[in-house]
Amino acid sequence: MSSTTTEPRRYDHLIDGTSVPSDADRLIRRDPSSGQLVAEYAHAGQGDVDLAVAAARRAFDDGPWPRLSGADRARLLRRFASLVDGARERLARLDSEEVGKPISIARGELQGVVAHIEYAASLAHTERGDAWTTLDTDFVAYASQVPLGVAALVVPWNFPALILAQKLPYALAAGCTTVIKPSEFTSSSAVEMVRLAHEAGIPAGAVNLVTGLGPTTGQTLTSHPDVDVVSFTGSTQTGRLVASAAGHNLKRIGLELGGKAANVVFADADLDRAADAAVYAAFINQGECCVSGARLLVQRSVADEFVAEVARRTRTLRVGSPADEATDIGPLIHGEHLERVLGYVTAGHESDATAITGGERLTDDGLDDGWFVAPTIFTGVAPTDRIFQEEIFGPVLSVVEFDDADDAVRLGNDTVYGLANALWTSDIATAHRVSARLRSGTVWVNTNVDGAPALAFGGTKDSGIGREVGHEGLREFTESKTIQIRSGNRQLPFPRRTGGTA
Ligand code: NAD
Repeated sequence: MSSTTTEPRRYDHLIDGTSVPSDADRLIRRDPSSGQLVAEYAHAGQGDVDLAVAAARRAFDDGPWPRLSGADRARLLRRFASLVDGARERLARLDSEEVGKPISIARGELQGVVAHIEYAASLAHTERGDAWTTLDTDFVAYASQVPLGVAALVVPWNFPALILAQKLPYALAAGCTTVIKPSEFTSSSAVEMVRLAHEAGIPAGAVNLVTGLGPTTGQTLTSHPDVDVVSFTGSTQTGRLVASAAGHNLKRIGLELGGKAANVVFADADLDRAADAAVYAAFINQGECCVSGARLLVQRSVADEFVAEVARRTRTLRVGSPADEATDIGPLIHGEHLERVLGYVTAGHESDATAITGGERLTDDGLDDGWFVAPTIFTGVAPTDRIFQEEIFGPVLSVVEFDDADDAVRLGNDTVYGLANALWTSDIATAHRVSARLRSGTVWVNTNVDGAPALAFGGTKDSGIGREVGHEGLREFTESKTIQIRSGNRQLPFPRRTGGTA
């Protein structure tokens, strides 16, 4: 099956506005639905990373970007947003083809990309400091938010353009200069977005990009002594490596890591809407989503009926070519990840759980060249089962029943992760009480996998450190600087000279 709708492409690094060829071997990307070659990227070794960081360092230390007025930075970011808006279809196709995500889903993400850049532009324009005017006679102080410096932005493969847009425009709005490292599986949209940033007039040295593998390019970049702040999105395992390197170098870090969200459905919820959202939350992006509602917790009194309906609706999902407008579920990112996800499916079969739908790899005609897994629902899952506890990052939903709100909260929090959770109820008191007790950076009430650029996003526990997007996202790239100004004499304890004041 061929789902490729763009020409194969070959990219180099983009350093100081110039295409720089690889100093290491090159990387090949194949369409995960067909195995066709779609892209070839450069692979940065130490030399390329040094060049990119040096370009960002010069642009920060001596270049115009950190010194532009907020209004000017905002104007250039708005121009960037407008160019990305014009290229949305192309960028959506690149992400669809390299991730294997359905084109309809990729298009929605590109709208989000534009919205983030526009929102970050508004922050660049309106960001302000603080002032203290009642400290003492003749003594005032103000604090400004100053950019941290060179920001390394490391992006995973599941939402390539969107996650880049959750970092890059906020870093730029703050006045930082950047080096981007996209995923080795999905680098094309990032390369093309960087070109658009330059075309918009954002200084070349403010936006640099190196492509390559994590343990080489990513590790070199995130531990580079001339990088001031690392914004990383990826697995918890890699996040720990990035955190230890940053700890050694004493850099600021933001870590957006794994998740295992609970989707809690109370009996008094609008069960029709909740059923649609349960399917959407579990299977969007083939389940390769950090906030996917991978644990469905259903109140026992409605569980049989509700879960049967979720399974019925899941069976209507169309698995197929990401380029097909009607496709709901595409292939997984690569063969190794397919094996990992199938390992969890096997673990589910071997436990006391029952796969009420799916539960296998799909190799029907048209799917045999890709990494397709049937959307799978396990019922009768024990909370101690691996499929309930661990992040599978595939289309596998685990269902557990609960009795009351206390039980739901206990099960919801029974994971090392704390990125997002959702709950469905028609009782406002339940909504407030349960959302307050679920430990995660986000709790959705009567919605799921939702958001807006103004709303800070991030995790607790093993899901990460810091918050991305919104005003808090901008502040991840700044630190406050306090200026204290005394305009009159201050009585000092010494030197003790007659009339000794300063
Ligand atoms: P990953 O950790 O393998 O890779 C993420 C990025 O880090 C890639 O660019 C990779 O090349 C790079 N990398 C790998 N090893 C590195 C190292 N030692 N030093 C520096 N960089 C390194 O993750 P992935 O497989 O690309 O993405 C899936 C994971 O990302 C899942 O766990 C998912 O939950 C998580 N994720 C989290 C969020 C969030 O916002 N919290 C969003 C999307 C994905």
